[in-house]
Amino acid sequence: MKALVLEGIQQLAVRNMPDPEPAALGVVIRVKANGVCRSDWHAWNGDFKREFPLIMGHEFTGVIEEVMPGVTRFKKGDRVVVPFSGSDGTCVHCQAGLSHLCDNPLYPGKTYSGGYAEYVAVPLADRNLVALPEEIDFTAGAALGCRFMTSFHGLVDRAKVQPGEWVVVYGCGGVGLSAINIAAALGARVIGVDINPDNLALARQMGALHVVNSLETPPVEAVLQISGGGAHVSVDALGLAQTCVDGLLSLRKTGRHLQIGITTKKDAGHISVPIDAMVYKELTLVGSLGMAAHRFEAMIPMVVQGRLNPERMVNREITLSEVEGVFENMTKSAGAGAFVVTQFQ
Ligand SMILES: [Zn+2]
Ligand SMILES: [Zn+2]
Repeated sequence: MKALVLEGIQQLAVRNMPDPEPAALGVVIRVKANGVCRSDWHAWNGDFKREFPLIMGHEFTGVIEEVMPGVTRFKKGDRVVVPFSGSDGTCVHCQAGLSHLCDNPLYPGKTYSGGYAEYVAVPLADRNLVALPEEIDFTAGAALGCRFMTSFHGLVDRAKVQPGEWVVVYGCGGVGLSAINIAAALGARVIGVDINPDNLALARQMGALHVVNSLETPPVEAVLQISGGGAHVSVDALGLAQTCVDGLLSLRKTGRHLQIGITTKKDAGHISVPIDAMVYKELTLVGSLGMAAHRFEAMIPMVVQGRLNPERMVNREITLSEVEGVFENMTKSAGAGAFVVTQFQ
């Protein structure tokens, strides 16, 4: 099969690779669409420790091609999306319903070969696949397996956004635009902040009532003014010191800051936060990681009903060899919306 292989930091090549063998209780999927994610960019950039060579790709949809004995919920020909929060089902977190925090995680594109390829062997299929209804096309559906589920769990399960609340989202890339769309669907009033005018235009299409270009306008002051004293919830979708701290400072008293973005090499996992403001305003800082597969039962109907709109953020369908250019644009904060690999030759 053809696959895009990460052979070292910032070293990508399209190669002929052996077709994957199905794992026990697993399936093989023919990939129809795989979204290019900022996490892939982090790995390409060397921000994460990775073993090379690696086939990345963790937001993909496809059709089941081969099924191993013991798989009961899926059959050949089924349309599926693969949540990146794969799990083993045996640890205490899995047994508590928190399979996204599994102690032995099964991440596509990290612990097993991922979606920048014609085929992927997904292990433990019954727990690590979600059926994709006919109403959701493969290209739009790819976003559900990472950016949408990440924002959905963060906003719904962790920050518990309520109708009428002000939500500010720092960073209008993949996760940020998904967060805007979901917060708006929950009935929140949403403000999007970014430095790229194309991202801000998309933020409006995804449901933001207001957008702020932080290169032109100090965003914290703008959010405090627009929301009449501060947002109820801030989201840092980027993981930069600036966006994290600005998010915290944009909150009203008792506000909740949702941290979804992870840091780059520069910050290496540590960001200083305005701790006195957090005390005086009784702020809460909430982390969020992926989403357990079973929570798709709450998200998929909202997509089918048209309340969530992953299709609106698809910029372009691309080939495997075009992925590197998308990464280079991410470094420059250029290129709005989602780029989705749909051609694998
Ligand atoms: Zn991702
Ligand atoms: Zn587990």
